[in-house]
Amino acid sequence: MAGEIRLPDIGDFKDVPIIEIHVKPGQSVAKEDVLMTLESDKATVEVPAPEAGIIGEIKVKVGDKVSQGALLATWASGGAANAPAPAGQPAAAPVTTPAAPAAAPRPAAEPTTRADFECDVLVLGAGPGGYSAAFRAADLGVSVVLVDRMPTLGGVCLNVGCIPSKALLHAAKVIDEAAEMSEHGLVFAPPKIELDALRNWKERVVKRLTTGLTGLARQRKVTVLTGEGAFTSPHTLAVRAPEGDRAVRFNCAIIAAGSEPAAPSFIPRDSRIWDSTAALELRSIPKRLLVLGGGVIGLEMATVYSALGSKITVIEMMDQLMPGADRDIVAPFAKRVEKRYEKVLLETKVTWVEALAGSVKVAWEGKAGSGEDVFDAMLVSVGRRPNGGAIGAEAAGVAVDGRGFIVVDRQMRTNVSHIFAIGDIVGQPMLAHKAAHEGRVAAEAASGHKSSFDAKAIPAVAYTDPEVAWVGVTETEAKAKGLAYGKAVFPWAASGRSLSLGRDEGLTKTLWDEASGRLIGCGIVGPNAGDLISEAALAIEMGCDAEDIGLTIHPHPTLSETFAMSAEAFAGTLIDLYMPKKKG
Ligand SMILES: Cc1cc2nc3c(=O)[nH]c(=O)nc-3n(C[C@H](O)[C@H](O)[C@H](O)COP(=O)(O)OP(=O)(O)OC[C@H]3O[C@@H](n4cnc5c(N)ncnc54)[C@H](O)[C@@H]3O)c2cc1C
Repeated sequence: MAGEIRLPDIGDFKDVPIIEIHVKPGQSVAKEDVLMTLESDKATVEVPAPEAGIIGEIKVKVGDKVSQGALLATWASGGAANAPAPAGQPAAAPVTTPAAPAAAPRPAAEPTTRADFECDVLVLGAGPGGYSAAFRAADLGVSVVLVDRMPTLGGVCLNVGCIPSKALLHAAKVIDEAAEMSEHGLVFAPPKIELDALRNWKERVVKRLTTGLTGLARQRKVTVLTGEGAFTSPHTLAVRAPEGDRAVRFNCAIIAAGSEPAAPSFIPRDSRIWDSTAALELRSIPKRLLVLGGGVIGLEMATVYSALGSKITVIEMMDQLMPGADRDIVAPFAKRVEKRYEKVLLETKVTWVEALAGSVKVAWEGKAGSGEDVFDAMLVSVGRRPNGGAIGAEAAGVAVDGRGFIVVDRQMRTNVSHIFAIGDIVGQPMLAHKAAHEGRVAAEAASGHKSSFDAKAIPAVAYTDPEVAWVGVTETEAKAKGLAYGKAVFPWAASGRSLSLGRDEGLTKTLWDEASGRLIGCGIVGPNAGDLISEAALAIEMGCDAEDIGLTIHPHPTLSETFAMSAEAFAGTLIDLYMPKKKG
């Protein structure tokens, strides 16, 4: 045995489950190649090879929980190029999201042929990051070329993400609210679902927005090219399209190539095994739908298909649904779906999937034991993979890590100073509003302004029923970091507006910095939580304390009052409930 590969220091993590092993005994690996992926409730962590070499024996299996120093694998005899780190003394830092980049590649030479298009700023990818960057740069007076392989602008968000999913979630809400009013004396007949009409409506919503973007690009004189873009040098990009290749020469570039759905390698390709894009196509309503992955995207699609009549099973590897959010904020949602769905299996891993003639057979192992069942369809929603590996970044000299992320500084600059990157491709959270904000920063920096990304907080929303939203520091993070914080929770059972909606399960939780008294985090669960969280985001940005919020007159009766009442609860001035101030 030539040496051991042990888990390096991965920060504040212990007993983290291994979710994927990427290498086999006998396989050659380069330094920094990803060996394994671990996933805690806080982050996905990739374990890189500390050296180049040949893998000997794998000492762990998927599902094992590991901590710093755990023996993961051995090097084959003579395999490691350099001596591996001694036990417990790892040579390389773990790769988190985004990972430290590999060494910058040597860029290709500049072509000597003339380009078809010349511009100040080239933007690759027309999602919310890319089109925001392109439009902002054009508004600042520079010439812009925007490239996307999709025939319509808007990227994942408008075409196959945020917008179509929210249209379908609206339909789900109408169905569920109509059904729930039967308990209160308003009885509707069960809905007749005309799938083609519903799908057409969703597509019209998308088309209206994507067409609007085309108009905005035209008004701003942004040149839009459709085709697959790949860098050919630090100042040129080739755009490949059926009608022929075109070359673009640019002074600066902004990479906004986004991400695509990820899937474990053992899952077969089959028309009944969907990713989020296939689920949004709304081709059929399966009688029984398995949702693999209890994150936001999977649970939003579960909300849609449940309202349309599917019986839902959710399998999630972690010990709670929506792992990034605080447990108490997720609890009202979890309680509702536990009653409504066939099964919610936590701390469970799908181990095997087989596409049969009329169904999909799935086996799992988990805390509650192992099992297998057949489903009419399965949605795989286990995360998204950045597209950094497929844009010819190396020809431009841009460093991309083993997972496809590009590392940037606060100005969104890559290791090549005139090339920027934004959105999903630069790391978590993979959210449209984060991409759009970064797009503005990159456009301004590329146009010579001193902009940088300095937002204090990025809100996150699950548009499920009830909605779950959070911004700033979560309580889990506050505890993990040892922050001195105070907390207040306002239960919506005391909100007149909530009760008048027939719902009382919501909560508004606020977290406050002990020293300054300022708001540092907020979590909201309940109808419209996604809209309500904006006020908390503004309060964090503005450095508000509980008095600022409590003394701001909120309209009555609204759900927005719950935010003010949570602040009053913290300040000890709440009248509507008797609630002594609590410390975290
Ligand atoms: C089902 C679903 C629901 C979602 N809901 C929400 C939500 O409610 N709120 C939210 O904030 N986020 C949501 N998201 C996430 C959101 O869509 C993404 O975070 C966002 O789209 C990222 O924007 P982006 O600009 O980084 O890239 P993307 O939107 O991924 O756009 C990247 C673009 O680059 C193009 N591209 C990539 N490579 C090339 C190439 N080589 N050549 C040419 N073009 C290329 C792609 O075609 C794509 O159009 C959702 C995602 C999904 C899948």
